[in-house]
Amino acid sequence: MGGAKVYTDSLKTHVAELWKTHRGLIFGLATGAVVRLIAPLLQHKSCDPAVVVVDETGKFVISLCSGHQGGADKLTQAIARLLNATPILTGTASTLGLPAVDILGNPFGWQKGVGNWTEVSAAVARNEPVQVIQEAGSTLWQSTASFQKSSLTLETTPNTPAIYITPHPCQCLTPHIPSIHWHPRVLWLGIGCERGTSRELIKSAITQVCQEYQFAEQAIAGIATIDLKADEVGLVELCRDCNFPLRTFSADVLRSVTVPNPSKIVDAEVGTPSVAEAAALCAAKAQNLLVAKQIFRAAEFQGAVTVAIAQAEQEYTGRAGRLLLVGIGPGQLDQITPAAQAAIASADAVIGYSLYIDLVAPLLQPHQIIEALPITQERQRAQRAISLAQWGLTVAVISSGDIGIYGMAGLVLEELLLQGWDGKTPNVEVFPGITAMQAAAARLGAPLMHDFCAISLSDLLTPWEVIEKRLHAAAQADFVTALYNPRSQTRIQQLTSAIEIFLQYRHPQTPVAVVRSAYRQDEQITLTTLEKVLDVPVDMLTTVLIGNQSTRTQGDWMITPRGYNAVLP
Ligand code: SAH
Repeated sequence: MGGAKVYTDSLKTHVAELWKTHRGLIFGLATGAVVRLIAPLLQHKSCDPAVVVVDETGKFVISLCSGHQGGADKLTQAIARLLNATPILTGTASTLGLPAVDILGNPFGWQKGVGNWTEVSAAVARNEPVQVIQEAGSTLWQSTASFQKSSLTLETTPNTPAIYITPHPCQCLTPHIPSIHWHPRVLWLGIGCERGTSRELIKSAITQVCQEYQFAEQAIAGIATIDLKADEVGLVELCRDCNFPLRTFSADVLRSVTVPNPSKIVDAEVGTPSVAEAAALCAAKAQNLLVAKQIFRAAEFQGAVTVAIAQAEQEYTGRAGRLLLVGIGPGQLDQITPAAQAAIASADAVIGYSLYIDLVAPLLQPHQIIEALPITQERQRAQRAISLAQWGLTVAVISSGDIGIYGMAGLVLEELLLQGWDGKTPNVEVFPGITAMQAAAARLGAPLMHDFCAISLSDLLTPWEVIEKRLHAAAQADFVTALYNPRSQTRIQQLTSAIEIFLQYRHPQTPVAVVRSAYRQDEQITLTTLEKVLDVPVDMLTTVLIGNQSTRTQGDWMITPRGYNAVLP
């Protein structure tokens, strides 16, 4: 097997090694054996890897350890979907569908501050009132089913456990009431410095400003400066150590920003009257500074540094987003591939037309952001998915059937190209699904056994002359033809024209199947002929399948011989 490593020494030593280097370990052993193996290695739920156990028959997948923070619950769900096994999760929040407050901010890259994490988690799990004081960061999490179901309240209530979502550090006046602090990364630090300023001085300047103005260092999004400083050693090292992005702007861009403290000396030196203040404003896309420029020097360190702070509306997630383009098949859950199911379950956000969101409801997770948009707003859906992914979320876009066949995949990729996508970021993965034509064919027997094609009769995006040309070509070349989008409330004439074209090349008795809502509860299948098909009701949920010259029917079945030599009775 590719990538498989065989170990020869003791499993105990091997696991101890993997424990240090891997974020998740999946065991195919008895739970007892796994417990004994990992017991000496366990440290804390904030740093231990996810531990998942799959039983020998592959029927059960158990989230054994580090369920929330280590991601074992998520990994368990994904594996269970792939194996078609039962996931076993025993963390209270996940079993009750309540918010897991210790991973609440993960999709948005929020950083954890101080807090009584266990106590507040327990209060949420017991459905006791817990107040949320959110001063910064995305409120999208408030739309999730788990939040709606929970006892969390956005109203300030005295003497109640609290979740602070804030750029400020803990300022608790009531230490006996448990609270936790999440820090969205909204603060952009504009920094200017003399050449050769030491990393230590920059670091200590940041710490001092944060302390003086009461900001949590965990809420720092990153550092902004002038492009001349892109190679400033102290700055680059500091960013690397603290995992800060370094955003640089040209003097031209910086000088166009109005700042409270412009300097002629700086202007003469680098061509803009402000570096720190202007860069902070540019990076945060803000109008006003939270902290105007402060200058720091220290006898023991080399150089001088100026720091200014601006707050961004949207937090920096520090995560590379992903777009999962998922085909959900014709409509029944068991017609969705396990990979597609796992993709949907793993996403931070799921976007799709409301009917399809309803169809996959059992796969959706209580902590997921679900955005159902009306069928007419495909482009908006694509743009929304892209912007969430560019921001850092894993976004599943769902389409019925195959997402790459008259589905959302094209729209999303086209939109990405328009935005200058480099083909890599955000990362895109497409999950195929059973398309309407295959679903209809399976219900009918084997109508697609010889060459076939699909034609959409929707002329919203394709000129009718082009569609007409393709209909002629397909009819003439004797392709079995699936007509998608045969009719809508406003498009009535197209199907009539298409059938007229086929009648020019094919016998009036050619078998035709009209398949409505294949694999859905209200499925309807009608077998008819080319000359009679227009008498059968056809709508947006219907696929019309036209046989070729040798297609035959028998009872409810439609069969196209494999080759032209076959002789059917
Ligand atoms: N991506 C989808 C097609 C979307 S276009 C796919 O691969 O199936 C929408 C058209 O698909 C409908 O007008 C209808 O012609 C067809 N369609 C979708 N689901 C269907 C179903 N369950 N039964 C029959 N036709 C269906």
